[in-house]
Parts: sequence; structure tokens; C-alpha cells
Amino acid sequence: MASRHRGSVLGNVRLLLIAAALSLLPSAASAQRGAYDTTDDVRRLPIPPVDRSHEPIIALAGGTLIDGRGGAPVPNAVVVLQGDRILSAGPATSTPIPPGAARVIDASGLHILPGLIDLHIHFTQQRGDEMGHYADSPAAAAIRGVALAEQLIEAGITAARDVGTVQDVALRIKEGVDRRIIRGPRVFWSGGLIASTGGHGDEVTSTATGRQRSGATTGGRRVANGPWEWREAVREQVRSLADWIKISAPASEEEIRAAIDEAHSLGVPVAIDSYGTYTDIAIRAGVDTLEHPLHMSDRAVPLMREHGTAFVPTIGAFHNLLTTGYPPAGIPAGGFYYTHSRRFAIDQEKHLQRVGEAHRAGVPIGVGTDIPFENEKRYPDAYFRELEYLREAGLSNADVLASATRVGAQIMRMGDKLGTVEPGKIADILVTAGNPLDDLANLKNVRYVIADGEIVVERDRP
Ligand SMILES: [Zn+2]
Repeated sequence: MASRHRGSVLGNVRLLLIAAALSLLPSAASAQRGAYDTTDDVRRLPIPPVDRSHEPIIALAGGTLIDGRGGAPVPNAVVVLQGDRILSAGPATSTPIPPGAARVIDASGLHILPGLIDLHIHFTQQRGDEMGHYADSPAAAAIRGVALAEQLIEAGITAARDVGTVQDVALRIKEGVDRRIIRGPRVFWSGGLIASTGGHGDEVTSTATGRQRSGATTGGRRVANGPWEWREAVREQVRSLADWIKISAPASEEEIRAAIDEAHSLGVPVAIDSYGTYTDIAIRAGVDTLEHPLHMSDRAVPLMREHGTAFVPTIGAFHNLLTTGYPPAGIPAGGFYYTHSRRFAIDQEKHLQRVGEAHRAGVPIGVGTDIPFENEKRYPDAYFRELEYLREAGLSNADVLASATRVGAQIMRMGDKLGTVEPGKIADILVTAGNPLDDLANLKNVRYVIADGEIVVERDRP
């Protein structure tokens, strides 16, 4: 099976053989193209031209296409894939199925839409009921991550952004999926969380449990102090092949500005976990996404609108904490206790209100679950519950579906390659029974998941 990172040595040899055999490159268009092909991640590294003309063709025929661009669904549609790309998509009358198709899937009665995106996960998150029972290690974290990757792809979530991982686990999961060693979503990762000494992620007490951590660390964070150290920390993450940079409050305005400036100068976007006035500072400094900002000021939403900042509220994560806590881990309901970086009441009503306000102001809203502790158990329900919370905040079904697909891809800086079913885009596709625009719960009726052009989930009709 071909790797997602085309242009490997093997691929080049094959290309040369084909060229020698045919005395011409089959894809003249790609040879003439001025711009380089690039890796299918946020880093966009140039790669040698990719020839897909000999890749197998798969067609989905007869389903209703919700292409993710916001227009009316197209009944009796055909979607044609070749290799990892979408060749064509539209009404059957004007979208022929190529005669050489390796497989034609009868999608009649089904809905074809872009794969879903989760913008805030942690592959290595410790499980609630295991805390205190098992010693953690990078290997244990990697095993949890592989299990979670499997759960995501089974649910039709074909892309996920990891915003805080143990060592390089998220990167290796990304590679494992790319190389088709494991099943999972396309992964974008943010390297180690950059925090100030004692900041969020570097507290002596665990944010969730309030218990003092043991001295040992599994390396989930990069502690830095002062603007130059924050710049250095950003450079380290970029050197580690990070797609994104994740920073956390509290930090000084100089530190936050330095990290964002450094990342942007290297072409890498920045996410921040922040609260209160730190959020305003980060927006003004040009941060790209706000991860569940708590205790937001009245200025935050107008500032987001002004600066084009995206909002990933992870409403469910806090709702879980407020209403049920995590009893197996000894975490009581009602809020965070014994933590410095979350030393304020969490107001779920206000949180929902801010999301609604932001949406009405035109701020891009992304779907992220976070779900610290027990995320494996709560997945994929956590994702679908997050969609419901967004509805509660005032988004329509179509708005929520856009957040889960096109808008999510744009927020991820992948809008040109992901998020819609259009020719030229990556073939990450979900096929469901039932129309999700009528009822978002229909997203749970997964029939096919196609990731990178490969059918990875296939369920018989009941
Ligand atoms: Zn998180």
C-alpha cells in the first residue's frame, strides 16, 4: 500500500520506470505545473511531482452528496476517487464513472459527505480509572493513542489535531497512519505544550485531580521563561516537525507575543489554552485558535472578529467536569480544584453564550472534544455531544456540519486540501445512512469511511 507521503525513493524509481516504459510522464500537467506538490500537512514541504494516473479508481454512485460547500444536497450523485484524491463529484447525469473503475460502491439511499474533523484531542491522555493504579510511560501513552486513533476513524473522524502529547507520540501516530501501519485519522500535531514555570501544564498539582504530581515527568510540556526562551521553544517544536504550536497561559505578554511572532515567521500557526486577560493578549498578538478560553472578557469576541481568530470551545469537556466529574479518578463534580491556572468558577451558561456571540459575529467555530480522562470511553459520543452543544449555543445543523468539516479544515490551515468533497481534494469521505442536515445524530450511522482514498470502514446495511 502506498504511503501518504508520496515521492519516496521507491515512488521515484517507479515513476522513472513508468516514464522509461512510456517515454513520457503520464501526468504532463504535474510536470508543467509551476508550483511544487507538497506534503498533505500544515508544514507544506515541497515533494517531487506525484503521479496518480495509475492509481486505482473507486466510485460512489447514487448517494446524496453533501459536498460541504454549503449548497443544496445533490441527489443521485457520483463521486470518483483516484488514489488519495477526488477526481470528480456531482450529479450522475454529468459525472461519468470511468470504465476502468476498480470498484463502484452503490451509495443509493446513503449520504456522502466530507470526513469529520476534531480540532482538540490528546492521543496520550491518561485514562481516569487508571490514574493511580498504573505507572505512566511514553510506551503506555502510545498504546492509549493507538487505541484512540482507531476509535476516531471508526466514527468517521478522518482528521484530528493533537494539542499536547507525551514526547513524540502524536507524531509517531501521524506517521503510523500515513504509512498505514495503524488505522486512524490524519494527524496534525503541536509538539510539546509550551508553558511558563508553574503555568498550565507545569503545575505541581494536576489540573484535573488537584493531586500533587510525582516528580517524574513523561515530557508532555516544554517549560520556557522570557521571550527568547519562548522563541527557542517554538523553534524546537518546529524542528520536531510540529504542524502547530501550542502555548498556554499564564505567561507574560512578551512571551506570548514572542512565541506567536516566531511561529508565524516560520509559517506555523499557534493555538493557546488561556483564560481571562491572557486571551485578549493572545488575540491581539495574532494567535490562530483559542482552545476553550475560560473566564472571557467582554472584549474577547469583538477582538476575535477583528483579528480573524478561530474559537475551539470544547464545551463538552467542561460540561463533564461540572456535572459528573470523573469519579473513577477521584475527581469530584463542580469544577477544577486545587489548581492555580484554573482558579475560577466555570460557568457553562456563559461559555455557551460566548460561543453563540462569537458565531453571530462571524468567528469561525471549530469542533474539539478534549475530554480529559476517559476520552477513550466517551469517544465517539463525546464528539457527537459536542455537536449538540454547538447547536445549543445557537448554530444550525448546517452550521455545525460546516464546523465539523469545511470550517474545521480552514481553521486547521488545510482548507485547500480537506473539508469538502471537491475535485482535487484529498479523498477523506464519510458515507452515512440518514441525512445529517435533518438530524446530526445521523452522523452516527456510519456505512463507509474513506481515508486518504482507502476504504477503512465498511458496514453492511442492516
Ligand atoms: Zn486539551
